[in-house]
Parts: sequence; structure tokens; C-alpha cells
Amino acid sequence: MIIKSAEFVKSAVKPDHYPSADLPEIAFAGRSNVGKSSLINTLLNRKRLVKTSRTPGRTQLINFFLINKEFSFVDLPGYGYAKVPASVRKSWGPMIETYLSTRQALKGVVLIMDVRRTPGMQEANFIDWLHYYNKPCVLILTKADKLSKTNRIKQRLAHAKALGVDVDDLVLFSTKSRLGKDAVWNAVEQLIDHAPKKETQLFNNDGST
Ligand code: GDP
Repeated sequence: MIIKSAEFVKSAVKPDHYPSADLPEIAFAGRSNVGKSSLINTLLNRKRLVKTSRTPGRTQLINFFLINKEFSFVDLPGYGYAKVPASVRKSWGPMIETYLSTRQALKGVVLIMDVRRTPGMQEANFIDWLHYYNKPCVLILTKADKLSKTNRIKQRLAHAKALGVDVDDLVLFSTKSRLGKDAVWNAVEQLIDHAPKKETQLFNNDGST
């Protein structure tokens, strides 16, 4: 994918605030600090388009970005951040659920997980929930550079088991080495184009760099 333009459009908390839904959208979800902002910036070849979680302001909101004036990336607020007050944390679920269940333009969700951390019920429930709403999901294991190749493979298997998915459905990714960047773009492009998944092209990354 050649990125000709990538611009922040607006932040929103509820449907009234969402920008118009004329273009296909891909949403990015994950636990706070998982590396979601870094992944989006890496995909877009930008250093700071998406602010990291330590930047106050935009992070508790749904942020919309317009890419190549052809499709949108939507950065969903990270969940599970201990420092956030309980009242704010409580409003996250409904805010994200409303977006995911009502947004017609949404073509799929990229769920980002830390390769080192075996996922819990939150991730498993989220995947089930996306299936229920018939939203395709791309599963990413990021920070792969932090593990040896052997441990990456082990952790990928552990994730597959914990989530009840095929190991080939988990894309290893690293913002440092750019591992998995092409695989994520292939998956995203296919979601945008409605094309059926091509398994080998999408998920054949075995951890080699
Ligand atoms: P977010 O809260 O999910 O948006 O996470 P950030 O993108 O802000 O990343 C959290 C921290 O993890 C930052 O210090 C990043 O530099 C680091 N990080 C993110 N992705 C990677 C990666 O692939 N490899 C390594 N080694 N560090 C990463």
C-alpha cells in the first residue's frame, strides 16, 4: 500500500460525533500500552500521527483518520489501563460497543495483543463478540522483536490455544523490525475490498524476519 496521505479527521464519543460513513473503515483495538499507536503509525509510515497512550487528550476517544482519501482507520481507546478512573473505564465498553455494533462503514477490526502476554477472557470475549456482529477480525501479536524466534513460535501456539483460533490466523508483528507489516496490509486491503481471505498470503508469517 502506498500512503499518499494520512490525516486526523476528528475524535468522537458517540454516533452523533462520528464523521460521515461514506468510506470503508478499519478499526484498531487492544489493551493500553500494547503497541496499538505504534502499529498504526508503522502501517502509515508516520512517526506521530497517532499519539501514544501517554499523551493526554485523544486517548479516551474514538479517533478517525482518513487515508489516501479512500478509506478510514479508527483508533479505538485502549482498554485495561489501571490509571484511568473507574468512571471513565466504565464508559469505554458502551462507547466501543456502540461504535462496533452500529457503524455500517466498519469492514473489520484489527485486534492487537502483546506476543509475550497470553490473552485472557477479555480478548476471547471480544473475538466472540465480533463474530456475533459478523465483523471480520485480524489478530496481531506485536512486539515480536522482544522474543527469540523459538519463543515467538511457542507464544503464537499459546495464543492460538487460549483464543481457540488457528495458529495461522495470528500475525506476528514488530514495529522495530517491520515484521508482519505486509501481512497486516494484505489483510486490511482484503477487508476494504471485500475480497475473500487468501490464507497463504494473509497468515503465512512464521516468525522469520
Ligand atoms: P498503545 O498504548 O497501545 O498505543 O501503545 P504504544 O504504541 O504507545 O506503545 C507502548 C510502548 O511499547 C511504547 O514504549 C512503544 O515504543 C513500545 N512498542 C510498541 N510496539 C513495539 C514493538 O513492536 N517492539 C518493541 N520493542 N516495542 C514496541
